[in-house]
This record gives sequence, structure tokens and C-alpha cells, in this order.
Amino acid sequence: MKLKRLTAPLRVLIPALFMATPAMAADYDVVINNGRVMDPETLFDGVANVGIKDGRIAEISKKPLKGAETIDATGKIVAPGFIDTHFHFQMPVGYSLGLRDGLTSSLDFEMGCAGSYIAAWYEARAGVTGANYGCAVSHESARAMFIDGSVGDHYKDGPISAFMTRANTGWSQKRPTLEQGNAILEEIDEGLQAGAPGIGSTVGYMRAGVSSREMFEVQKVGARYGRPTGAHTRYTLGTDTSEVNGAQELIANAIALDAPAIVLHYNNPGWRVTHELISRLQDHGYNIWGEIYPYAAGSTTINAEFLVPEVWIDQMGNRYEDTMLDPATNKYFTLETYKATVAKEPTRPIVIFKMPATDEAKWLTLKGVTMGSDAVAAEPIRGPWDFPLDKLGGTHPRTAGARGATIRKGRENNIPMMQLMSILSYNAAKHLGDTGLKFMQERGRIQTGMVADIVVFDPELFTDNSTYDKGSAPSTGMKAVVVNGKVTVRDDKVLPVFAGQPIRFEPEAKPRFVPISEESWNAAFSTGMPDDFTGAFPENTGH
Ligand SMILES: [Zn+2]
Repeated sequence: MKLKRLTAPLRVLIPALFMATPAMAADYDVVINNGRVMDPETLFDGVANVGIKDGRIAEISKKPLKGAETIDATGKIVAPGFIDTHFHFQMPVGYSLGLRDGLTSSLDFEMGCAGSYIAAWYEARAGVTGANYGCAVSHESARAMFIDGSVGDHYKDGPISAFMTRANTGWSQKRPTLEQGNAILEEIDEGLQAGAPGIGSTVGYMRAGVSSREMFEVQKVGARYGRPTGAHTRYTLGTDTSEVNGAQELIANAIALDAPAIVLHYNNPGWRVTHELISRLQDHGYNIWGEIYPYAAGSTTINAEFLVPEVWIDQMGNRYEDTMLDPATNKYFTLETYKATVAKEPTRPIVIFKMPATDEAKWLTLKGVTMGSDAVAAEPIRGPWDFPLDKLGGTHPRTAGARGATIRKGRENNIPMMQLMSILSYNAAKHLGDTGLKFMQERGRIQTGMVADIVVFDPELFTDNSTYDKGSAPSTGMKAVVVNGKVTVRDDKVLPVFAGQPIRFEPEAKPRFVPISEESWNAAFSTGMPDDFTGAFPENTGH
């Protein structure tokens, strides 16, 4: 009798225990408790606890959650991990620098990676990379291959191969033959076939070499896949009219081809017009967007064609002494040192002052924009992921601190935090997701079911520390960075966690490349007057 009596209540108790047990131990892999949770898509903004399981956000709740690992986010912001479509420093130490600045998804949509190296580039990063990584197919690399004949292992490192290929000039100055032009387009198609998220074009560095026809055909290759072309547009750096005209080329092509496009770093003269153009097109339903970064100065290699004295001094009225800084020595160039350096070390990185500093905060207020850092490299470029960041060489401060600078300048100028979270994360995820990229459809949001890429930072303390003197000083004030559900940064320390995933489409079995020819053009667009056709890629005549 006694036993029976005991047994019955025990049976009742057992299921109850089973239900209670997980709550007493760990329901979740990671919980982020008591933070101010911000979701730029739904505009949710409130104190809550976030439970993460199997790499995803499993619960957002007011009730206390228990996890195997706990982050106390009291007084901190809990927001989607930052996404950057313009991050050139796609190397182990570059990812570490980015992670310190809250970067969970890094892509290069400008220089990009050579098409035939896309598959290998992704493979080399699998399982050994802290942040998510992606690379568009490079227009410039394809030109370097088929015009300069630049072949070799340097392409396997992706964007930084520019330091090798830019020692030549054909990629920038020369028009291809029809045969070379088709080879360039086919190389780009190969990268898209391998799953690259889009195309990156540095047409602004190739003004003489790239005809309107070539730029149109490049975007057409992307259009066949519905993927965006990002461009350093044709007249950047330029004037408040030429800059806008450069953006208009990319935008008009995109509209005609029904393809997405990204106007890269339009924080230059004429930016208000470019922004209004983009905004109105978005209102009309076009998947066209643009990037800014909050720095009055840019950065490039010293042999950029818009920096020659005939343009930089004679046309634009600048002086090297006021505008061109060597971040390695922290000295300004003169006409003499400029000329000597171009001759001796044509790809030396420089910082170039171009806009009033008072514009920096204004760019951060632009609706619908994204913050693309344009992070360049710092020595040692091939350093390991745990290379001491305070020992990195000089570079543009945007490399280490673009996100810290965005939040600091937002704080100093009373820009709403939700606006900053949108431009640092959600806006890029939304536009890339709209191209069909599943990876981005489930990131950039703090919502149940989304992938757990999350930043936890102190809104009063998180800041950039990088300056024009010390461009690679990492940001501070980051409580935690979670990548695919794994805590990868804790209290400003990058951990040996390599949960980064590839940002790409599924590779496809067949190319979509269609060579261009005079015959097919006439068949499609004319009533048959082949003499009118000047050639899709006119041969170089005078350059
Ligand atoms: Zn650029």
C-alpha cells in the first residue's frame, strides 16, 4: 500500500521533473541577458533576454533564460552583427581587426576576387575564419589577366592581389579587343557560376580603358544571375557633377538590365544628388543601394589615375601638401615626392583628404544607406589571426575603426541608435537578401529563428581608437560578438573561434555566359546596318 501510494505521485512527478530539468540546467547554448535588444527590421527596441541554440536565435523573452554560456548585457545594446560590403582586408588578421569593431559579415564588392579563383578563395577560408566572408567577382582582375597577361598565385589572396597587378597599367588604360573583352566577361561569369554574391568593379580607376559598352556588358553578366554589381563609379574622385554622372552610369545600366547595383562610397562631392536618386529608385521598387563611410579622407594606391597632377592639381585645384598623406610615415607628399614615389613604388598606399570633416556625421543620417568601411590592408598583411593588433602598420583609420567611428559620431551628434544599427547591419542584409541570397535573408535581424550573428556593446563606451596617425588601433567597448551562435569576441578579446561561414550562392553546374558579337547585337537592336556598329570593344587606338 505504501509503495503504491508513493509510486503514483512519483509517476506524476517524473514528467514534471523532465520539463523542469532543462530550465534548471542549460536551455540554450548561449544566453544574452538583460540587454537593450534592437531589431532594425521590426523596430523592436526593449530590454529582453536572448537565447541561442544551434546557431540560431531560439527565444527573445522577458523571462530569465539559462544557457551553457551567459553574457550579462545589462546597460548594453544587443543588435544584429555588423555587415560590411566593402571590406578589402580579407585575411586572418583583417578578420580579427574587423571582429573587434563588431564585424560579423565581411564582403568585398569593389576590388573583389578573380573569377577563376572564387571557388579556391572560399575553400581556403572554410573552418579557419572568425567572421563570415564573401567576395564578389573582380572586373579589374579579369582585365589584368587578359590585357596585362598577369597570371599567377597572387589571385588566390583575392582583393590584395591588386598590390601586384596594379604595377602594370593595361588593366586601367587599355581597351580590349573583342576577343579579350569576351574573355574578361567569361572570367567574370565563371566567378558567378562558382557562387560569388555579385560583381565588383573599379571602373573609376579604369576610366580610359573601360568603355560604356564594357561597363554595360559587365553588369549584363551579373544581370543573368540577378546579382548586383558594386562599383567605385567612373568619375570618383571627381566633382559634384562628374561624381553624380559616374553613379548615373551604374544606375542606368542596372535599371535597363533589371539588375541590382551598389553605388560604393558616394560620400564625395555631389553626394546629396546621388542619395536622392538612389532613394527615389528604391521607392519605385528597384534593388539599388549605396554605401558611405564616415571619413572625410579616402585611401588608395599612389598611382591612381585621378591623382596625376593634370587632374588633381590642374583640374581639381588641390595641392599634394594639403591633401595626400603617407600613413606609414605620417608625412604629406609634395609634387616632387609624389613623382618620385610613383616611379619607385607605384602601389604605395596613401590617404587622400577630399571632403569637409563636418559632412561625416551628415552621411550617417542618410536613410537607407549602408556603412561600407572600405577597410584596406595593414602590414603584416599575411599575419596570423592572433597577430598583436597594436603592432599592425599604418593604414587608413577606417580599416580598424569604421564601426566604432559610426557609433561614436552618432553619439556625439545625437543620431538615433536605430538608424545606426540599420546602416551598420540590416540595410545591407535586406538588399542582398532581396537578390535571393539566403545567407542574408536570415541575418541583420534580431528575431526568433534568425541566425545568431550578434553584437553586444556599451552605447556610451564603444568607440574607434584609430586615427590618421595610428590607423590600425582596434576599437574598444565591445562586450561580445557572436558569429553563427558562437561567442567569438568577449570583452574586447578575439577568441580562437572560427565559426565564420561563406557568404555565397550555390555553385552552378553550367555557365550562363553568352559571348557578344556584332551579328547578335544587330539581330537584337537594329534593322540590319552593320556599318553603324563601331564594335563592342573597339581596339585601343590612341592610349
Ligand atoms: Zn573605392
